[in-house]
Amino acid sequence: MMSDTDEVKSSETMEFQAEVKQLLDIVINSLYTDREIFLRELISNAADALEKFRYLRLTEKDVRDSELPLEIKIEVDEKEKTITITDTGIGMSKEEIVENLGTIAHSGSRAFLRHLAETDKKDVNLIGQFGVGFYSAFMVAGRVRVLTRSYSPGRQGYVWVSDGTGNYSLSVREDLSRGTSILLELKEEAGEFASPDKIKNIIKKYSGFVPFPITVNGEKV
Ligand code: ADP
Ligand code: MG
Repeated sequence: MMSDTDEVKSSETMEFQAEVKQLLDIVINSLYTDREIFLRELISNAADALEKFRYLRLTEKDVRDSELPLEIKIEVDEKEKTITITDTGIGMSKEEIVENLGTIAHSGSRAFLRHLAETDKKDVNLIGQFGVGFYSAFMVAGRVRVLTRSYSPGRQGYVWVSDGTGNYSLSVREDLSRGTSILLELKEEAGEFASPDKIKNIIKKYSGFVPFPITVNGEKV
């Protein structure tokens, strides 16, 4: 078992790749027409992770928490102004976190940066098509926390935390089950999203065809 001091020791601060910094700077400091699409992007990532697990499970004998149902749970805390999106998908190992949530691997990102830089009122609707949808979380969140654990039994769980300005921290967290939770601490000016009804409406608008059950504060959407 790990003590608190072990966890502190295993916490690292890491820098975003230059291109990610550039993207986040624009995402954080601009005005948008369609901020609500952050939810579509995070649900789409959750559904991708569940789909990958569903496929993997057919061939891999040894997976973590094999009995967990494949689903997406969203919790909205109106008082704390937080939204948490949890899936029981493949999760991420440390290497995958660093690669996926710290760099831009996809080639379309430069084109997207150019597109954003050239327009005054930023239309972020295309962000998903450029393979950088995750970072849209920072349109509404002042701090994003990612708790994740890989399906692969040997892997530890991790917590990734960032306010989107330059770095993120990464630490080990042993008590996680398979999958990923994205916790958004909403910015003051995005407080409107801390409403279960609003979140349900956004899901109906953009995520109607997601092939996994979605609940908001325990209620099916
Ligand atoms: P894309 O979905 O187009 O690859 P994103 O910026 O939305 O781009 O996500 C980047 C990557 O981060 C994903 O490809 C995936 O590997 C990883 N990722 C994001 N969210 C999750 C999640 N909920 N579960 C597992 N991996 C995730
Ligand atoms: Mg995505």
